[in-house]
Amino acid sequence: MKCPIHQEQEMKKAMFYNTQVDYCPICLGVWFSKDELRQAKDQADKTLQWLDVDLWEEPTKFQVSPTHKICPQDFVPLYQINYNHSQIKVDICNSCFGIWLDRGEFKKIISYLKQKKVDEILHSYFKNLIEEGKEVFVGPETFKEEVDDFIAVVKLLSDKLLVQHPSLAIFIANLPK
Ligand SMILES: [Zn+2]
Ligand SMILES: [Zn+2]
Repeated sequence: MKCPIHQEQEMKKAMFYNTQVDYCPICLGVWFSKDELRQAKDQADKTLQWLDVDLWEEPTKFQVSPTHKICPQDFVPLYQINYNHSQIKVDICNSCFGIWLDRGEFKKIISYLKQKKVDEILHSYFKNLIEEGKEVFVGPETFKEEVDDFIAVVKLLSDKLLVQHPSLAIFIANLPK
């Protein structure tokens, strides 16, 4: 699969907590296919309490706009979803529901989580995972320091964005292809 931005660049695979994703070695953006998101969501989760924090509490604040980025699976343009209160932006495909995060967007989600003071709960959750001896990371050094952050983002995207806002999912599916 090619990077949505660098369309000549083949993406590489990384593995975080048994969730495989594709990333671009040039821009370090990350592509999550719908299956990858579902897989992350299905993982055993003992401390679901942190998910009570709602990052996208007001559906009317969603803004959707077209982009020049191309879905690596369907070759159609991605749409950007912007939630204006949080400044969080993600790019989504309205055919396959894959999600692309630019490198900067990834960092913004994490700092927003920290503002919401949920990072402490998150980190004890990840510590448990590591103690259970799960293989947590296979991929480039550049991502290594962010392993804990990473799965938080995956879970937010899978549990919060489309599951909690089914109307948003329908809206996105109905955008022109
Ligand atoms: Zn790229
Ligand atoms: Zn797609």
